[in-house]
Amino acid sequence: MATEKCQNFVIFYGSQTGNAEWIAKNIHQESIERGFISECYALDDYDKVDFSKEKVLVFVTSNTGDGDPPDNSIKFFRFLRKIKSKTYLSHSKFSILGLGDTNYSNFNNTAKRLEKKLLDLGGTSFYNTGLADDAVGLESIVDPWIANLWPALANVCVKKQKDSGIDVTESIVSLSIKDNSQNTNNDQSNENDSNLINGKKSESIKPGNKILLDLSDIVDSDQLTSIPRIPTVFCKISRLNKEKVTTPLPSFFAPSSRILNARINAVCCLTHPNAVKKTLHLELDIKDLEFSFIPGDAFEIFAPNHEVLVKGILNTLGIDDNMAHEEISIEAAEGIVDLPIHLKKFGSTSIFELLRYGVDLTSLPRKALLRMMADYTSNDQEKRSLLFLCSKQGSQQLNRLYEQRPTILDLLVTFPSCKPPIERLLDTLPQHQPRYYSIVNSPLMNPNELHFAFNIVDYYTPNPYNIQKLGVCTTWLDKLCGHVNEMNVRKLLNSNITIPIALKMNQSGFNVPSDLSKPLIMIGPGTGVAPFIGFLQHRELQFLSEKKINNDKHLGDMWLFYGCRDKEKDFLYRKELEGFVDRGILKELFVAVSRAPGAGVDGKPKYVQDIMRIQGRDLFELITKKDAIIFVCGDAKGMAKGVNDALADILVEHGQMQQSEALDLLKKWLREKRYLRDLWG
Ligand code: NAP
Repeated sequence: MATEKCQNFVIFYGSQTGNAEWIAKNIHQESIERGFISECYALDDYDKVDFSKEKVLVFVTSNTGDGDPPDNSIKFFRFLRKIKSKTYLSHSKFSILGLGDTNYSNFNNTAKRLEKKLLDLGGTSFYNTGLADDAVGLESIVDPWIANLWPALANVCVKKQKDSGIDVTESIVSLSIKDNSQNTNNDQSNENDSNLINGKKSESIKPGNKILLDLSDIVDSDQLTSIPRIPTVFCKISRLNKEKVTTPLPSFFAPSSRILNARINAVCCLTHPNAVKKTLHLELDIKDLEFSFIPGDAFEIFAPNHEVLVKGILNTLGIDDNMAHEEISIEAAEGIVDLPIHLKKFGSTSIFELLRYGVDLTSLPRKALLRMMADYTSNDQEKRSLLFLCSKQGSQQLNRLYEQRPTILDLLVTFPSCKPPIERLLDTLPQHQPRYYSIVNSPLMNPNELHFAFNIVDYYTPNPYNIQKLGVCTTWLDKLCGHVNEMNVRKLLNSNITIPIALKMNQSGFNVPSDLSKPLIMIGPGTGVAPFIGFLQHRELQFLSEKKINNDKHLGDMWLFYGCRDKEKDFLYRKELEGFVDRGILKELFVAVSRAPGAGVDGKPKYVQDIMRIQGRDLFELITKKDAIIFVCGDAKGMAKGVNDALADILVEHGQMQQSEALDLLKKWLREKRYLRDLWG
């Protein structure tokens, strides 16, 4: 008996940085064009649909940290956990697209967990789960997964009408260019003037680098396959014919009162000028701000894109100063049901403000961006090259392009006849992300201040490119603070420099425990030590004040495993940490010095996990006999896995268990929050 097809379907997205949302909204828009009836919601808006009735569900979800659900899906997962009926979704068919990264140990954990839960609740999958991997490029899974979603959907969903002529992969036959009459300008982007913006020599950042590509293998465009669909036209700009009033914070921050302007009080360089990385410690004044936190919390900084980069893009697109600062509003283009969230919040703004704070100009370009650019490129050779780069045949050259980590300006400089309207860039560029930092201090120690530390991102792309790349936020902060570099010299900043910040709600439980007697094992190499300074300050002050009331008060043992390259050059917060040891607050401070002579050779420790293994027996006792809580903070890719493996080895060796049992036990401790991790990509 044929099963009756469903009239509509619902797309849900769990998105941390806007990528999953962008993909979901493109699927939504394309589904409408293909004649399906669909709705699209963030996972946390799950109550907008009636799960007892919805029959076809499509999920697009990314991950945060090491396989945790994105922030806008936490409520949904809580809701799912509470449902116990095995038949709750027995009427539903679903499919899932996960966006993950195999560099992390829990690859695509959110999509996998979701799949398991939906099956447990009686749902059936109508189309295989797609697990995209950012380590090799999300698009190599995402694009074919979406292409094959349509026939799978057609088996379970009714289509109102036939496809509006959309092919699974577009075949390029003609090389026509869309008219972009707005942009009357010119090729200003030649190499000669690329260092000059408004007649001034750029400081520290070059306005655009030509990307090195070998296009000798380029094939005719009609032979190219797997070219992505032209991305959805989401927005249109309405000009208001007046200059945008400049405000200290961009106007689209205003609706969110959680964003506050904090003054930078002081700065200190924590590293030696010859250290591999430069680390700064900053102190913000939050006296008059409503900002309460506890150690373990992190906060966001809304740093602008570099002005030179923004001006370079405006220049290249022929947008003059007046036009760039004119007041505009962003609206949904015709036929668009819903703008992506980051475009929605813009309201009244200016093109300059949008490029400074609204869109990401530096992350790796999506294929969809190259595809869109091809449509606005007048030179045939350049157009062919762009289409080649986003096709299956051009994948090797695309990897070459990615190695050079191009900005959108680098692309525009490399393909100078490409003049997309600014709206199409806004449609396709990802949302500009705030940057997260752990809070270093305890509010008990400095209630009116917020301290944090970070490495300045400054590196060169590999040979033969050797292009300097600078971080957006860290180099901005470094510049605001006057590029200090004298190690451990705290400098008060007297001028009124403010930065926009917001508290990031900590959902994971990675906070200093309230029970003072609990032993803590803290593992945090590099800037991963940041939250533990706050843990130690907090516990010391709590202990001293509670001891006044009860002299028998006991402070649980605290051990810290810290890692640096050279004790003299990058031992962050050394004085503070040794002070905690001297005062008996920190029972053990183990420091792995990774570039010390002989480190990693003949059993000499190199990394924190090596010292953990050496201390295995005592660690085992502390964990299993004294119920210590394990906290790990830092790099999600190498370190987190290394530490997890070391913990498993310790359990195997001292707890007489199998490796698989040890790994299961660690997973259980993660669930029970006896083992907490604050991992950073
Ligand atoms: P880092 O300076 O790159 O490295 C610190 C030490 O860790 C070095 O000795 C390094 O050794 C070693 N290391 C390298 N690979 C390792 C591995 N697989 N296992 C264990 N140790 C390893 O550290 P970082 O850049 O500060 O990185 C810390 C991470 O924490 C970053 O992802 C950062 O984003 C994050 N984080 C930042 C904040 C913040 O607020 N800014 C707070 C918490 C965490 P070698 O280089 O000699 O190999």
